Order: sequence, then C-alpha cells, then structure tokens
Amino acid sequence: MDINRFKFAFILTGLPVFVMIVSFIAGVVLSKKQQKLDSFKQFKSSFDWVNFSLLSAALFILNFAFFPLLQASEKSEIESTSIAVAFVILLVSLGPILFPLIVLLRSKKYESNHDLERMVNVEMNTDVKIRIINQNLVNAFATGVLPFSKIILLGAPLFKQFTKDELKAIIAHEIGHTRKHHLLYLTLIMILIQISLLILHQFFILPLISLYGLGWVYKGVSIGILFVLGNEVFSYFQRKTEYSADKFAAEAVGKTNYANVLRKLDEVTGGKLQSKTATHPTLNERLNHIEISIKDV
Ligand SMILES: [Zn+2]
Repeated sequence: MDINRFKFAFILTGLPVFVMIVSFIAGVVLSKKQQKLDSFKQFKSSFDWVNFSLLSAALFILNFAFFPLLQASEKSEIESTSIAVAFVILLVSLGPILFPLIVLLRSKKYESNHDLERMVNVEMNTDVKIRIINQNLVNAFATGVLPFSKIILLGAPLFKQFTKDELKAIIAHEIGHTRKHHLLYLTLIMILIQISLLILHQFFILPLISLYGLGWVYKGVSIGILFVLGNEVFSYFQRKTEYSADKFAAEAVGKTNYANVLRKLDEVTGGKLQSKTATHPTLNERLNHIEISIKDV
C-alpha cells in the first residue's frame, strides 16, 4: 500500500478544515468580549457533522484517486499541467455540486414546504426548491450550480421572527442569486483563480525559487501569499453578487420594504450585517447601493 498516497489525500482533505479552524479562532479572538461566546455558540449550532463527514469523504476519495495521475514521472509538462488543471476543476466544483444533493437526500434536516415553494415559484416566475433548515439559524442562502439542484435554504427561526411579506423579501434576495446564476459564476471564477495561481506558481515562482536556490520556507510563504491573494479576488466577486441579489430583491418587493427587512435582519442577528465579511458588504454599503442603483417609482 502506497503510504504517500494516503498522506497526500489526508493532507489535502485536512487543509480546508485547517483553514476553517484558523479563521474561526481568528474570528473569536478578534471579536468583542460578549460576542466571543456568541460566535462559539453560533458555530456549534450551525456545524453539521453529517455534511462535514460526507463532504470530507468525497474529497478524500477524489484526492486519493488523483494521486497516481499527479505523479510527474514520464509525462510532458503539458500533460502534467492538464492533469493538474482537471484536478483543480473537480476539487473546486465538488462541494457546490455535492451539497445540494445532500440537502435533497436529508429530508428530515432539510424539510420541504410545498405551499411556500409553489407560492414563490408562481409569484417570482422561477423554478426553485425551498427547504427549511431545522436548526437555530437566522439565515437564508441559495445553493445549487446545476439547474435541477437549485435550492433556497431558510433557517427555521426566520418563520417566527419575520412576517410573511418580510420573508418574501428575504426569499427574493436568494431568488436573485438563483436567477442570475451567481453560484455557477462564482464556481467558474474560483476555478479560473485556482488555475491562474497554479500556473503562476508552477511556471514563474518555482523557477525563480530554484534559480536563486531558495529553500522550502520561500515555497511555503509564496503559496501562502497566493492563497490570500486568490481569496481577496474571490471575495471581490462574491460581494458583487450580493449587490446584484439586493438589487433584484429591491426591484421585486420595493426599495423601502427591502431596506427595512435588511435593517430588521441586522437587528434580529445582533448587528451581524454591520460588519464587513469576506462574503458580504456591510449593511450601510448595501443600503447605499440599493439607494443609488434603483430609481424611485
Ligand atoms: Zn446573498
């Protein structure tokens, strides 16, 4: 049995988990005192072991299967680069493709609501599945890259804390993501970023490092810098999709109504919308954008 193959699959599967733990710890350390416990509680209530295990197992299998192909013996540079590119494409799209399937299979955890689904699909002239997440999560999100797997997920507490019209505004934002194919674009952008970084590393940085005889520290640092750079570029596009989904929702339910729902969502979540994250602009940036991008009717 090839021990290196196991090591490779193990490290590459563990890497995203490691990044997740580090960013979680950084988030807790940087947050205010009373928020520290909150962010821990939030993490505990939103973390799902079943999803985590299924996605990790799929990732491990993919890494394990690709290891012999990625070994560079007797291959031209073009051949090995093409294999690496194919590997990156599969690696990036694995989660976005697999997650909606998991949601559809776990019907107890992600409960369907046919009345709401029918109403949304008729009113917004769209074809999307709606699932209610049975856990303490005051949030909504859209998932599904492939057409048949487009799902809008709504945290169960939203139904208690928001009126029917307010809920419609929240759903309209997610429909905006679905209708504008944001998930597909973001997955393609991520693939492009990763391939560009791979080529940059392989053909420019590694030759420079070996030209100057630099050691593994430089290799590690250069990978780290590329990783941060890639994340920044991706975040830029992710925030753009948020503005676009806001515009769609504001046009669907009215600018003032939508802005009020965003403010209420911020209130209910204890000011969560006010802080800038990698995925979302701040509440004020979003409100300003709605104000300038839509004319009064
Ligand atoms: Zn969004």
